Amino acid sequence: MKRTAVRRRVARVIHKRPRLPAPSSVASLRAEIVSVSQRMSASGLSPGRSGNLSVRVDGGMLITPTGMHYSEMRASDVVEVRNDGRVAPGQRVASSEWRVHLAIYKARDDVGAIVHTHSLNATALSCLHRGIPAFHYMVAEAGGEKIACAPYATYGSEALARFAVKALGSRNACLLANHGAIAVGETLRKAYELAAEVETLASQYARALQIGRPRVLGSREMGRVLEKFKTYGKQNETKAKS
Ligand SMILES: [Zn+2]
Repeated sequence: MKRTAVRRRVARVIHKRPRLPAPSSVASLRAEIVSVSQRMSASGLSPGRSGNLSVRVDGGMLITPTGMHYSEMRASDVVEVRNDGRVAPGQRVASSEWRVHLAIYKARDDVGAIVHTHSLNATALSCLHRGIPAFHYMVAEAGGEKIACAPYATYGSEALARFAVKALGSRNACLLANHGAIAVGETLRKAYELAAEVETLASQYARALQIGRPRVLGSREMGRVLEKFKTYGKQNETKAKS
């Protein structure tokens, strides 16, 4: 199959529009944001108060507040930001990276949740302005043949939001130069799992670079892998249900 045909097919699978949560489940999404944030912090995936995460809701998004220790965060601390960037009075101050999150939701209908980390090895590669090529077939987990690194821009800036959207393209993860990594998904669980996978890949790639020059897989092979991954995920879901 031609590469472009493979890409189109993969794009059709990847770009499944996430179902928006019903208003009644917004409370449970707030609770989920707290629990995943605490898991991210406790696992060491993003050190200290770094990193942030969000979930799309009708008319905007729910996002972690700025500067709070994850262990102290409660569901009521999660901030609802509308699509125009407004925050209702009485809420906490949203994460400084709210512009990046909002820009991704606006650019990508298929994204339902975003996880941003300063995970160790992904951040180390980002400091070299180096993305992750197809050194390992699992790079396809991020939905493409590579994980690109966005150019540097000041944290919280509009420029960073633009660069992040461009580096993501139609893929589900990217690095941010001198900063960290972003992973997106239909659900918070999927985005978080991908953020952890990006860090695993970054650590493997960094280790390979220490030993020598990693052999990168070609486009044809990665096209095959991307094709196989379409059924790989579905099989797991079927098994989980049965
Ligand atoms: Zn950050």
